[in-house]
Amino acid sequence: MSEKEKSAGQLLKEKLLRSPKNAGSTLSEEELKAAFDYCEPYKEFISTCKTEREFIDWVIPVLEKEGFVPFEPGKKYVAGDKVYINNRNKAFMFAKIGRKPIEEGMHIAAAHIDSPRLDLKPNPLYEDQELALFKTHYYGGIKRYQWTAMPLALHGVIIRKDGTSVTVTVGEADDEPIFCVSDLLPHLAKEQSARTLGDGIKGEELNILVGSMPFRDDEVSEKVKLNIASILFEKYGIVEEDFQSAELTMVPAGKARDIGFDRGLIGAYGHDDRVCAYGELTGILASDPEYTAVACFADKEETGSDGPTGMNSKMLSYFAEDLGRPYGVPGHVILEKSKCISADVNAAVDPTFPQVHEKNNAAYLNYGIVVTKYTGSGGKYSTNDCPAEFCAEVRDILDGAKVVWQTGELGKVNEGGGGTVAKYISRLEVDTIDVGVPLLSMHAPMEVAAKIDIYMMHKASEAFYNAK
Ligand code: MN
Ligand code: MN
Repeated sequence: MSEKEKSAGQLLKEKLLRSPKNAGSTLSEEELKAAFDYCEPYKEFISTCKTEREFIDWVIPVLEKEGFVPFEPGKKYVAGDKVYINNRNKAFMFAKIGRKPIEEGMHIAAAHIDSPRLDLKPNPLYEDQELALFKTHYYGGIKRYQWTAMPLALHGVIIRKDGTSVTVTVGEADDEPIFCVSDLLPHLAKEQSARTLGDGIKGEELNILVGSMPFRDDEVSEKVKLNIASILFEKYGIVEEDFQSAELTMVPAGKARDIGFDRGLIGAYGHDDRVCAYGELTGILASDPEYTAVACFADKEETGSDGPTGMNSKMLSYFAEDLGRPYGVPGHVILEKSKCISADVNAAVDPTFPQVHEKNNAAYLNYGIVVTKYTGSGGKYSTNDCPAEFCAEVRDILDGAKVVWQTGELGKVNEGGGGTVAKYISRLEVDTIDVGVPLLSMHAPMEVAAKIDIYMMHKASEAFYNAK
């Protein structure tokens, strides 16, 4: 329809009212292809990096190839310098020094690189009914029933008393064994089926099947456990006590896959939140920043952001102090001028469960990244509520770079809620807003994201880093 043919009402509507559109319909063929192409290496990445430590092992060579070097506190850096900080192999920051003096602030993009999973307890190995199992303590908010009767892989690291370490990955290669949590057959699940869904599988029922073959010696008890210990000693040189200084975890085994006949979606473990970290990484690499560009990848978000590698630590403020010191600029002066997009996934409307969302303020797959002014729960408790001024700036940046984006709240008022690391960054006096990729099945062993939205996280990060 040409402009002439539009009625006064149609024209007024176009001028005054919001009209969100599915980016699958509105993007050019070239942009759609760019989005789909962008997701091919992303699938490799998300299949490879299933823990925060694996992310860091992967990202350091990527950055070093791009000229990033370890940060030296107190050194005078100049525009174009590229540095990184590895915080205990679990949290990570890197920066491109901008052309503006550091006292004018930084553009920070944050994300978290840990995901919900089943961690092994410090004394995990036991035998029961002549089977060997691992006890687990789940990490983060999971619906426990989702983690039974499915292939799991063991990932992690064991640190021996002498400080030497063993990195473990079992269950990803085709010729490797996998593991699983067994579940009751429906025929005998009368009592279990009467439990609430949340208690369908209790915390102490997430036991991992790891062996069945006895050690062939009638003089010993717990033969299956002993046999597993013997295999672990042979393969990794570890004894049972070494589990006490280990971080071993069970994650869903296997690779990310396209979902749907049209291949528009990706199913993967751990989109939350490495999908945002990945977009920030590719965004900063593509950027030519005016302000010092910082990517901050935190651990422990899924358990409350505590500890030295969580966002509620001093890592970002110490970094600002270290950057400013050679110029006599206090860290707080830098932070007060800084801006942050705190990137974390948000809930997309699920056609099977639309009732938990309020449709005008919900996020949808293929409508681009979600900008969220506030998270939290109840009467906006425990949230960074982004100042309207910074919301306006971000709108302008995203629209200027033709980033497809939408707003979204995490569900209806009082339906539940949740938080992100945004509040730990904004408390440093940094203007901070939540953005992120919408997901279906968040925190499930397989989460679903749309390729268009994944690509828009990259475009948004690049635009934010490049903003004048
Ligand atoms: Mn998250
Ligand atoms: Mn999460």
